[in-house]
Amino acid sequence: SKSVRLDRLLANLGYGSRREVQALVRHGAVELDGEVLENADARIALESDLPTRLSVEGEPLDPLPGMILMLHKPCGVTCSHKEAGPLIYSLLPERWRRRDPALSTVGRLDKETSGLILLTDDGALLHKIISPKSQVTKRYRVTLDRPLEGHEANAFASGELLLEGEERPLLPVPMEVDGPKAATVTLTEGRYHQVRRMFAAVGNHVTALHRDRIGTLELPADLAEGDYQVLTPQDVKSVL
Ligand code: URA
Repeated sequence: SKSVRLDRLLANLGYGSRREVQALVRHGAVELDGEVLENADARIALESDLPTRLSVEGEPLDPLPGMILMLHKPCGVTCSHKEAGPLIYSLLPERWRRRDPALSTVGRLDKETSGLILLTDDGALLHKIISPKSQVTKRYRVTLDRPLEGHEANAFASGELLLEGEERPLLPVPMEVDGPKAATVTLTEGRYHQVRRMFAAVGNHVTALHRDRIGTLELPADLAEGDYQVLTPQDVKSVL
């Protein structure tokens, strides 16, 4: 397996500068299999069980590079530095915000959309999911301002629906009716504000939007708003 110098590993995981993590090691804060590691330049094999074997100040090591996490985004936090408001990254442990490679969201949800979002430091995985060629579906629960009129499912399924200001029609979007003002849509594309604009195109208005599924990966019922869960790359491969 790949190996990396201990000081570089810890610095890249956000534990401090190279000098700071060297000092941590010197003070005996880092243990492998219960033995203090004395040398910051020791080479460490990057095996997947390393976080259970290596501890820093008595705590298990943070997830290794290649991490993926699922987060239950609350309304009111943003996925983009360009928008006003608290960033989604502020929900993560501070150290995780100093990782190199950095964690970033896999695509985006609007500030006022809640639900399942993935974050990863794995650029290849990120690309695979958000690429226009990706077949990974996203499922949204929609709450509407006005009652459905009955024509919406056909309009969305037609493959001919045009969003305001666009020339290329949307791929068909299956819709299920969940109530007079509630529906579920499953997208294969991810155009800007797509769900809100789809309902605007049929004369309605989205008042609440929640994503509960990406591919076959479902938001766990016990994952509260603002909470997250680290996935293994195997988890992700088996479900996307
Ligand atoms: N469609 C939207 O309109 N907003 C989202 O956040 C996601 C999909």
